[in-house]
Amino acid sequence: MQNQQQAVIIAPGRANGGNGTMFKLPKILRPKNRPADGDLREKEKLESWMRVFQCGVYQHRFTSDEKLAEFIRDCEYSCVGQSHSYNGIQIVPDLNAVMMGKSTLDICTYDKATQTVTCGPSTTIEQLKRELLEHDRKMFNSGNYMAQTVVGALVTGTHGYGKRATMADAITQLTFLDGAGREVTLKRGDPDFGYAAISFGTIAPIISVTLETAPLEEYQSDAWITRLSKKKGREKGSVATSWAVVPYSNPDDPLIMLHTLRPASENKNAKKHVPKFFSAAGLTMFFIERYWAIDRAFPKMRRSLQRLADRIDIRSHRRTITDKRDLDYLYDPEPLLKSQRSPDFLTGLFSTTHTAYNLAFHVPLDRAEEVIKFILLEVESWRTLGFYLKSLIGVRELSDASSLPFAANFGGAVAAIDLFADIRDYAWLERIQREVLSYFENVRPHWGKSAIVGEFADSLGEDTHMAHLRALHQHHFPSGNLKPNERVRRLFDLGQPMATASISKATYDDG
Ligand SMILES: Cc1cc2nc3c(=O)[nH]c(=O)nc-3n(C[C@H](O)[C@H](O)[C@H](O)COP(=O)(O)OP(=O)(O)OC[C@H]3O[C@@H](n4cnc5c(N)ncnc54)[C@H](O)[C@@H]3O)c2cc1C
Repeated sequence: MQNQQQAVIIAPGRANGGNGTMFKLPKILRPKNRPADGDLREKEKLESWMRVFQCGVYQHRFTSDEKLAEFIRDCEYSCVGQSHSYNGIQIVPDLNAVMMGKSTLDICTYDKATQTVTCGPSTTIEQLKRELLEHDRKMFNSGNYMAQTVVGALVTGTHGYGKRATMADAITQLTFLDGAGREVTLKRGDPDFGYAAISFGTIAPIISVTLETAPLEEYQSDAWITRLSKKKGREKGSVATSWAVVPYSNPDDPLIMLHTLRPASENKNAKKHVPKFFSAAGLTMFFIERYWAIDRAFPKMRRSLQRLADRIDIRSHRRTITDKRDLDYLYDPEPLLKSQRSPDFLTGLFSTTHTAYNLAFHVPLDRAEEVIKFILLEVESWRTLGFYLKSLIGVRELSDASSLPFAANFGGAVAAIDLFADIRDYAWLERIQREVLSYFENVRPHWGKSAIVGEFADSLGEDTHMAHLRALHQHHFPSGNLKPNERVRRLFDLGQPMATASISKATYDDG
């Protein structure tokens, strides 16, 4: 095996009781991480979603599990899905990148007897949903973007909202290749299973997952523009609740867009109560509903427009009965996919998906309203510094507990708080994360969207769950040929920084 030699670090890592003492390395070693077969490919750029994190890597695509096993036996590597994580958790510089999203390991087979579906590491969520539709089945829950790999989404704890919101809760069995290229299968109930299910690149490559599925169902989807104080009354009977907060509205009682889902009942039909178009409220609502476009065109008007909407105090209610064959009913209750309806080019150009950085974290559900008010007050005071949040603040309620130790809702219901900013302002969102982490307890990360920092160790269980995942990683990858992202290595104390990391180069010491 061509191993990158480990540089010696004198200071212990965090989990060893380290206190940030400077690293000292005897010498910088060139990574010997190309495949042994004389493959002299050039480095290619790998970028996170919105390109805040990027680096050069040796990209490798695979057509069979056997070739993949052979490769990882001989090389150092990290694993990449579609590279849609915002926080760069999929980025490991100067290394072999096993490009699962660009490989052809995309099996997707439904088993009628067990009502489960098994898919490979290249299978996308859209492929999986379409396959299930053929059998009149659906996923229990999902995030709001379908181009990601199923495995990539599962292992970062991707979630929707409502019950069983964490997608990985549906996994019944998974198979990964260990550092020697051998298949290891874990089933629900095995002590290590939950750790591998949400393992963000520390147990990789996962080459197959089997998921439970649910029957198709119609929902009554209600969307209100209302006040936070009215939320409790409106959400009675809801099985899945999400809300979006207008960030520069009144922090004492913010203006929100509330969305609830209930199983559809026969006596409830679609309806719409909106203010008359040629009224102040009607015009403001017209603007609010197209806010994403206005926001893009006139960023300086963000706050004043929102204050106006706040003063006019618009109310509206729209009820839709979702089509049970609609793949994205959780996020867009109208039939068909949002991308299939006009004006698609506008959505592509202006929507936050394509123009904003998104940072998210999770707070206990019963503290969500306080956290939101805290954020509103903080960002209001940052106006003089020239920072404005973009779009709305998303709050999705994960209403029950997951048994997976690194799930957002392990231990209880949480609210997923999604913050958006112009890409150049992404670090302001990290500042909000830090403020929330320092004043609220049990704040948990989103593995694909949070800034991965040591402060999360308290809520993750440093001596219990984190130690378990570290031991599992070391057990299956004893030679260290799997290289997770540097922030993850640091948080979980998975060994010294790679010699190619800036910290290693900066602390070079040939003495
Ligand atoms: C537009 C958009 C919308 C989103 N919406 C939501 C949402 O609604 N809810 C939500 O919770 N999140 C959401 N996310 C976050 C997203 O679901 C995660 O970041 C997801 O991990 C991206 O999947 P990917 O295939 O691109 O994986 P990548 O970003 O490429 O990788 C993520 C992690 O998975 C690991 N990995 C990938 N493949 C494998 C494998 N085969 N075996 C082992 N490890 C592997 C990588 O090493 C890395 O650690 C959204 C992201 C975007 C860009």
